[in-house]
Amino acid sequence: MTERLPASAREQDDAPRVGGAAVSTAAFGAVARRLIARLRDVMAGAGDAQTRLDQIVQLIAAELHAEVCSCYLMRAGDILELFATVGLNPSAVHRTRLRVGEGLVGTVAASARPLALADAPSHPNFAYRPETGEEPFRSLAGVPLLRGGRVRGVLVIQHLRARNYSEDEMETLQTVAMVVAELASAGELVGAGEISTAGDAGVLQQRLAGIGINSGLAMGQAVLHRPRLTLSELVAEDPEAEFARFGEAVSTMHASIDVMVQQSREAVPGDTADILESYRMFARDRGWLGRIREAIAQGLTAEAAVERVQQDNRTRMAQVADPYLRARLDDLEDLTNRLLRHLSGKRSPIETALPDDVVLVARALGPAELLDYDRVRLRALVLEEGSPSSHVAIVARALDIPVVGRCAGALSRIEAGDPLIVDGDNGQVLVRPGEDLIDAAARAMATRADRRLSYQAMRDLPAVTRDAEPIQLCINAGLVIEMPQIADTGAEGIGLFRTEIPFMVRATYPDVAAQTALYSEVLEQANGAPVTFRTLDVGGDKTLPYFPAADEENPALGWRAIRIGLDRPAMLRIQLRALVRAAAGRDLRVKFPLIAEVAEFDDARRLLDRELARAAKEGIAPPSSVKVGVMFEVPSLLWQLDALLKSVDFVSVGSNDLAQYLFAADRNNPRVGSRYDPLSPAFLTVLDRLAERCRAARVPLSICGEMASRPLEAMALLGLGVRILSMTPRAVGPIKAMVRSIDSRQVGEFLKPLLSGRERSLRPKLRAFARDHGASIEDIALVR
Ligand code: PEP
Ligand code: MG
Repeated sequence: MTERLPASAREQDDAPRVGGAAVSTAAFGAVARRLIARLRDVMAGAGDAQTRLDQIVQLIAAELHAEVCSCYLMRAGDILELFATVGLNPSAVHRTRLRVGEGLVGTVAASARPLALADAPSHPNFAYRPETGEEPFRSLAGVPLLRGGRVRGVLVIQHLRARNYSEDEMETLQTVAMVVAELASAGELVGAGEISTAGDAGVLQQRLAGIGINSGLAMGQAVLHRPRLTLSELVAEDPEAEFARFGEAVSTMHASIDVMVQQSREAVPGDTADILESYRMFARDRGWLGRIREAIAQGLTAEAAVERVQQDNRTRMAQVADPYLRARLDDLEDLTNRLLRHLSGKRSPIETALPDDVVLVARALGPAELLDYDRVRLRALVLEEGSPSSHVAIVARALDIPVVGRCAGALSRIEAGDPLIVDGDNGQVLVRPGEDLIDAAARAMATRADRRLSYQAMRDLPAVTRDAEPIQLCINAGLVIEMPQIADTGAEGIGLFRTEIPFMVRATYPDVAAQTALYSEVLEQANGAPVTFRTLDVGGDKTLPYFPAADEENPALGWRAIRIGLDRPAMLRIQLRALVRAAAGRDLRVKFPLIAEVAEFDDARRLLDRELARAAKEGIAPPSSVKVGVMFEVPSLLWQLDALLKSVDFVSVGSNDLAQYLFAADRNNPRVGSRYDPLSPAFLTVLDRLAERCRAARVPLSICGEMASRPLEAMALLGLGVRILSMTPRAVGPIKAMVRSIDSRQVGEFLKPLLSGRERSLRPKLRAFARDHGASIEDIALVR
């Protein structure tokens, strides 16, 4: 049974086939409509659920000219049981059982994705069950029965001959599977008690693993962002009426989104409103709305059609790696939910009473939806999907709430109101934790809250070392909603404004006016505190939706940051023009990313000078001062320091990239990302030399990579003479405590002789020094 078919024995084309003869898509549409209409009659007819399921498999087999149609349903303990079949041995019904993941049926259930095989027995997961008598059947198509985000079973058709299944056939099978899933979930075939535990092994307390998208620890009650709306009617009586209902719901949804965007523009300026604007565009996506209309034309109700299209989107989402496309599909998930609410007239959870401590659980979430929730109640976010670069992750970070993403099964395993502990530091969620875990988490959170309070009490104290060295503490930011953090933390300003973040969350390239408005808003909200804008740092792992990513073998060593800026000067010029205009009458600080040689800095600086001259000609008030610097991230600059330090007003070390290029270790590759320690003699020696040269040239040196956010690392930097640090806002308290607890001269005297050593890391020695000298080096992860 495992030999490969000769090519000639397989179907070569993808045209839909009924009974082996190719039929057109239009003709197949008629088959699908007839099948759905008959299913409706069966569902509405007499007889118990088992009888109806038996009729359904017969109907599907007849309409799709399949020799076999079988339905497996999920039972407690993640077991799939054959419940009905036509074509397989009837005595196998209720006898044949497979575990999720076992055999082809178990594979469909485990992946929750359709599977179509021309030669099923040659698939590595094929598991032959003699009692079924399925030996003669060659091809197989299986689709999951999905309901409420859970797999309820698997629907399968089989053919004797080896044949390909067309897209139309698979679509029809998935549509039919919605109807069968409805029957399977009604509690008659498999008891309701069993259904609620099927798929989660029946354990009460559970630990769900995901990835930490934003660190921190929080506890609260689960609010399911998308409580599943039960689709009571799947098959439409009157398609015309469904089209009309759909059209009406789409119009009211568009109108309500328009209102939301307008209100948000007033409440949250700049980039957040831009995110919403692109969301508004997706709501008008013709492809999406068109596919729903097609599903209605197949005979589904409007609700079922919306859900059906979203099931496809989810399947696609699972395969898409591109961050922009994923963000877009997240937006579609969000819009689906809105549209279903408009169709059903049901209220969203936001409009109903929310607990005081909301842990929001969602498959995926659009940024707009996160902002819909009351920020004061929002404790954490758990996503089944989501990536660190998704729009919602960027907004959640700005709101400073812990986020666990890629938490498989969250929606099926968490019920509304469940107590949850969200551990963003370790990327895990504890569901219905026991008393002991709740106590432990509550204690950890209370300790963190105490620490936060003690750091807050230091907010207005000067950041001065015990040997009277003043240290400038700034924060890194990238969204306007982060600007209040300057005042909240007591930082001196923004040491790194990552301008690419507002670019990344928009659907289109922001023009001069949009960028000017954004940068003006940033400067306005900074209220006189210095802001250092870094020009666009895209490429590598940061892609823009409207800028094609270069297909490169080594993106980190490829076309990114200033390289793109200089090769496509129009883009950089527009950004610089906007910065100059925004800074009219105010101080302008700009730095260029990834400068590898002085000539690159000179070229970029010339572009800025041109924009300054142009603004003067246009009668725009000049900035009151202009300071231009480099991000020191590429080691080659070390050998051009004389020339560099003559040209720049300041140097900012991007220690994340500098470490990546110095050690030749991809910062995003977990295998090597932490292989080399920035507290190694090599890395610290580079910084030591750089600090010395900057001091001699009287050029201010700052560090704005992750290193500056970690107290032990920052202590070493102060020992090397660095006096300006820019960090994640949460680090300001712990770093200030460290600054006030150390004698920087003593640190330097301890550290410098160690730089000639041969150990891999000076971390243990620095830690011992900190302990012996009472330095405060608290892990910043423990602050939230
Ligand atoms: C860095 O490389 O250290 C840096 C601050 O820039 P980014 O992390 O944005 O690349
Ligand atoms: Mg960098």
